[in-house]
Amino acid sequence: MKDKKVIIIGSGIGGLAAAMRLSTCGINVQIFEKQSYPGGKIRVKNSVAGLIDSGPTVLTMHEIFEELFRACGEHIEDHLELVPEEVLARHWWRDGSSLDLFSSFEKNMAPIRNFSGIKSAKEFEKFNSLAEKLFTLFNQPIIKSPRPKVLPILINGITNGKILYKTLLRQRILYDLLEDNFSDPRLIQLFARYATYVGGSPFMSPSILSLIWNVESKGVWRIKGGMHQMPKSMERIAQKAGAVFNYGQSVDKILIENKKVKGIKLENGDEVFADIVLFNGDPRALTMGLLGSQVKESITQRKIHPRSLSAYVWSFAAKPINHKLVHHNVFFNINYKKEFQDINDGVIPTDPTLYVCAQGNNKDPTPSSNDIGRFEIIINAAPISNLKNPDKHEEFQRCKNITFPILESMGLKLELSPKKEMLTTPFEFEKLFPGSSGSLYGRSPHGINSTFKKPLSQSQIKGLLVAGGGTHPGAGVPMACQSGKHAAETILRDLNLMS
Ligand SMILES: Cc1cc2nc3c(=O)[nH]c(=O)nc-3n(C[C@H](O)[C@H](O)[C@H](O)COP(=O)(O)OP(=O)(O)OC[C@H]3O[C@@H](n4cnc5c(N)ncnc54)[C@H](O)[C@@H]3O)c2cc1C
Repeated sequence: MKDKKVIIIGSGIGGLAAAMRLSTCGINVQIFEKQSYPGGKIRVKNSVAGLIDSGPTVLTMHEIFEELFRACGEHIEDHLELVPEEVLARHWWRDGSSLDLFSSFEKNMAPIRNFSGIKSAKEFEKFNSLAEKLFTLFNQPIIKSPRPKVLPILINGITNGKILYKTLLRQRILYDLLEDNFSDPRLIQLFARYATYVGGSPFMSPSILSLIWNVESKGVWRIKGGMHQMPKSMERIAQKAGAVFNYGQSVDKILIENKKVKGIKLENGDEVFADIVLFNGDPRALTMGLLGSQVKESITQRKIHPRSLSAYVWSFAAKPINHKLVHHNVFFNINYKKEFQDINDGVIPTDPTLYVCAQGNNKDPTPSSNDIGRFEIIINAAPISNLKNPDKHEEFQRCKNITFPILESMGLKLELSPKKEMLTTPFEFEKLFPGSSGSLYGRSPHGINSTFKKPLSQSQIKGLLVAGGGTHPGAGVPMACQSGKHAAETILRDLNLMS
């Protein structure tokens, strides 16, 4: 199949998954990436204490990667050392209370009982069971399927009638479902936060997102050497199979002839021809004409709007003073609703929830107290298209004022002097991921039908496909990987290499 040429624009996880699958099937694959490294949002920043993971910091649903590696004739364990994370996260509240969640249902029962009483433990058991059933209901027909299938959900839903009614038919919002399920407001807040994993507000996202808890509870893995080892190993496998990676090459245009893809034009004016082009950037870039006016209609507007959350992301090295941090820490605010109201109003939340990832070394996932460590802090934010008074100059000062004093008031003092280059803003995310509007997760998950509205692999133009977190099945590292697999398999089927 070496005479069949596929160009992949972007080496995010979706692009890399497709590159691996296609090249190991003997297809001639060329990747064009505007940055100098693979991985897209899985990026690192430099610091005096070494590289800081400045995007995702752990892996979930690692079976999706195992399946991909296997389909390419490889074993993931020959390339990466995955270390299970026992504590999923340590959660802190303003009243001084804290709760660790573990990567198994059973291990959580006692901590929840101690934290909030027997009633809460029973409520947790009920919610856990709902999340598990929802995941089972949605995994094959939605996540694993190249196009979402409603019928199997309805058929299986009949046997699980109560779930379907509770979550889908009543069109419930995640936060409302949690309010009905839990009596302790801290647990409502904790499980509501999972909506932000796919860029949604818990007050506007459908209750189906409860299933994210089930994904987390099945396990979370650190990658020895950092998350960026994943894109590096995927790049190596594709390269070994003959894929050619062109870094520092921004694609300006997708070339069309007779309503079919012909190739691409690079920023430097060079043209490269191919039978198929797979776009791994944000699909909104296509609709905005950033890849040329001829592909503007390749994706419909309703598949990219409304936009998901953006974020302010700190990455720095600092000395934590006398802390009790684990790898993942969440510092909750008092008024969770107000945080998302602020974001909805297009302003920086005055009192945000702060996610703090404390990155240690390969032996110990967290930096020792009073030793210099590497940190990532994430504050949810509105995408720039929703900002009320965008003012790039005020952002840094405001973020500084809401981050470090809050942490200090909750017992975490960090010895550092914050600098502008330590903060990535929604405007910078738009620059890194053109057309995204700073949204980190593509189309927003808000609305009951959002699962069914994301772009599928095949666009409206023959030979032009899409993959990545902005496409079906959705955002997050494993989902983006799955979308790359879907796109590659669509291409293989079109070339009669797969049934
Ligand atoms: C701070 C942060 C934290 C996150 N935390 C988690 C987490 O804990 N768990 C999780 O599962 N997910 C997390 N995510 C989301 C996850 O990182 C993404 O969903 C996933 O990595 C997206 O992959 P992708 O395939 O869409 O490609 P992207 O990562 O979006 O990469 C797209 C690539 O295309 C390139 N590109 C775009 N346009 C062009 C062009 N015209 N020419 C050449 N190249 C181009 C870009 O440079 C980029 O490299 C997080 C994201 C961020 C930013």
